[in-house]
Amino acid sequence: MNYVSTRGQSAPKQFLDILLGGLMEDGGLAMPERYPSFTPQELEALRGKSYPDLAFAVLSRFADDIPAADLKLLIDRTYRAEVYCNARDKARAVDITPLTTLEPDLHLLELSNGPTLAFKDMAMQLLGNLFEYALERTGQSLNILGATSGDTGSAAEYAMRGKRGVRVFMLSPAGKMSPFQRAQMYSLQDENIFNIAVRGMFDDAQDVVKAVSNDLEFKRKYAIGTVNSINWARVSAQVVYYFKAYFAVTAKSGEEVSFAVPSGNFGNICAGHIARMLGLPIRKLVLATNENDVLDEFFRTGVYRPRGTAETHETSSPSMDISKASNFERFVFDLHGRDAEALRKLWAEVDAGGAFDLSATPYFKQIAAYGFVSGSSSHADRLATIRATAERYGITIDPHTADALKVAAAHREAGIPMVVLETALPAKFEETILEALGKAPERPSGYDGIEALPQRVEEMDPDAGQIKAFIAAHVD
Ligand SMILES: *Cc1c(COP(=O)(O)O)cnc(C)c1O
Repeated sequence: MNYVSTRGQSAPKQFLDILLGGLMEDGGLAMPERYPSFTPQELEALRGKSYPDLAFAVLSRFADDIPAADLKLLIDRTYRAEVYCNARDKARAVDITPLTTLEPDLHLLELSNGPTLAFKDMAMQLLGNLFEYALERTGQSLNILGATSGDTGSAAEYAMRGKRGVRVFMLSPAGKMSPFQRAQMYSLQDENIFNIAVRGMFDDAQDVVKAVSNDLEFKRKYAIGTVNSINWARVSAQVVYYFKAYFAVTAKSGEEVSFAVPSGNFGNICAGHIARMLGLPIRKLVLATNENDVLDEFFRTGVYRPRGTAETHETSSPSMDISKASNFERFVFDLHGRDAEALRKLWAEVDAGGAFDLSATPYFKQIAAYGFVSGSSSHADRLATIRATAERYGITIDPHTADALKVAAAHREAGIPMVVLETALPAKFEETILEALGKAPERPSGYDGIEALPQRVEEMDPDAGQIKAFIAAHVD
């Protein structure tokens, strides 16, 4: 499989070539040259398969430069019930992404049963094993540098801990994450994991990462890499659970299913779009945002207007607090019939801090043909949805899942199953659950008292020079 750039000016590459990288050389995102589609017969043959078998069926089409036996081993090592063990119904952990049925045609797809209790574990755990494999083959090593406000950093650390050839340097804003999130990351004692608490906000940490990455000589000398959400391997690994859910809620091929996705960087729902392009009969892709509604605005009006950081709200579904959606370019590429020149023009505006407006173009009308609809929610909506879900179904959901469940309600159709992607467990967001329900959510076993564990973290100023010196001292 060849991968091309959305901007059309990079040479095609293979899966392993783009695995460790970020953007393509021309600043675009990697896309498969064409979608490897599944016929209805091929789809039907997948019904009833286990999660690892489905993952192999999907990913072997994208990663065809990894020998099949190796890929199978990596997948089997990743998708084990012992790793994704925090299912509501423990007996169903073997499903890896079990469903909780709320009503006959309304389901939650449990994606947050992995070690960090958020859906990012679904793809990141595979990435850890893929990175180790790829680095071993070439004898290289990689130093992952990132900034996190919570979920991504912990998912990356739990995926990379103990992996040969990989070190993680993760910057987080000192004192800004919840005590639970801090404990999750800082209590890791693995020698290849380095937590750096930066005196400042998330944006300060992000700026330091950018400054270090822009020092190309340092970047090359110390093999600095990233694991951000534009990574193609992450997106493709997320396609798998759309297949798993589809078979779980249908009886025969051809039946349609809708999905509702709490969205930030457009990674998760982009995987849904890809699943649909592969031939999975997805009716609607319901995109849900919180008050940071840049994507909802686009799907309603055709205007894509990334916000400045000053315009970005801090909300009670913080993992969706984005100002621009880094994976969105992939969908716009498809929407424009893969016209890379058109993409370059649109993103010339975006990269210069501007916006674009498709409302007067034929593309705006075509959005519907891709199944996308959208909506947004407020803090009050989230509280009301968390309450109603507890009352009606006896189930506690997290604020991100609540965003999606609220928006999904407006897009349900008789006879069409609606699957709401559950992207975090409520234990991660105690404060909001307390506000909604008057009591703290249950913690999965093994997470009680983690705040009291010894922590391993270095506090520093948001200064690129200091961070570089720290990295150099720990790599050499
Ligand atoms: C990252 C995250 C999201 C947003 O996912 P995207 O792929 O960025 O759209 C939603 N919910 C939770 C809990 C997350 O961690």
